Amino acid sequence: MKGLIIRGVGGFYYVETETGVIEAKERGIFRKDGFVLCVGDVVDISLLPEDPGKGVIDKVFPRKNSFSRPPVANVDMFLVVFSVKTPKPNFPVIDRFLVNAEMNGIRAAICLNKADLAGKKETEDIMKIYSAAYDIFPVSAATGEGIDAVVPLLNGKKTALAGPSGVGKSSLLNVLVPEAGSRTGEVSSRTRRGKHTTRHVELFHGPGGGMIFDTPGFTSFESSEADEERLSMYYPEMAKLAGMCRYDDCRHLKEPGCAVREAVEAGEIHPVRYNNYVAYMEELKNRRKY
Ligand code: GDP
Ligand code: ZN
Repeated sequence: MKGLIIRGVGGFYYVETETGVIEAKERGIFRKDGFVLCVGDVVDISLLPEDPGKGVIDKVFPRKNSFSRPPVANVDMFLVVFSVKTPKPNFPVIDRFLVNAEMNGIRAAICLNKADLAGKKETEDIMKIYSAAYDIFPVSAATGEGIDAVVPLLNGKKTALAGPSGVGKSSLLNVLVPEAGSRTGEVSSRTRRGKHTTRHVELFHGPGGGMIFDTPGFTSFESSEADEERLSMYYPEMAKLAGMCRYDDCRHLKEPGCAVREAVEAGEIHPVRYNNYVAYMEELKNRRKY
């Protein structure tokens, strides 16, 4: 029977199937191969004849993608979260999240949280940085403002929240999936530890027919690095101009006839994004020297 791993705790996996959630163990063969099953994995299970509420995972289907910190598989979308203030946006860090999503071939969208703390103009100025490349939604997990607009985006996908700590990822998750919040509360009151240390990875059904990973958070990405040659392909507003520069190998820095720099001049690419690109290029170049 085919199913989806929605939770893994202490050697047990909870597998959602068409007949309900089955508690299953993995066959020894997975361990022997050093393979770690993840929440988000699609698996085949067989039910125990003596206890049909329980099962064994026989096989895992090929993954679309996977990560080890947090351990999740088959992410369809990253919802990159940052806040208008407290903490104030760190644009280079946000762009790293976005570049990483692009490198992994995973769609990204942005939630600009804590909109309740800023004026309209301030929020709009931040949105302008990203609106040429991404869907960006001003929201407030505190007041619920803007949340309805995010819901249709989640439809039919497994979404993971990513972003620096303190921006409101857990708060947003709790607004989108109230069930996740109550589970978190249970665990932390029982163990008397912080919610982040006790939280398990779990996949919840969200509003609008989507699923959302509840993880301790993608607060950083594993060190898969972009290469200089391809970096601009991971900035959608620059990738759009591929082949338009005078030189085929243009890195969009100081080369004459650069379509990307022209787009920056024309206000089609936001200077914050372009400057982050240039800084990232510098960093990659310096790293290569050592
Ligand atoms: P995480 O580290 O990204 O998971 O962030 P949390 O969800 O733990 O939130 C960090 C802090 O920001 C908490 O004190 C929240 O109450 C607060 N917070 C979260 N969302 C909002 C919001 O929309 N508006 C305001 N004013 N505070 C928020
Ligand atoms: Zn160029």
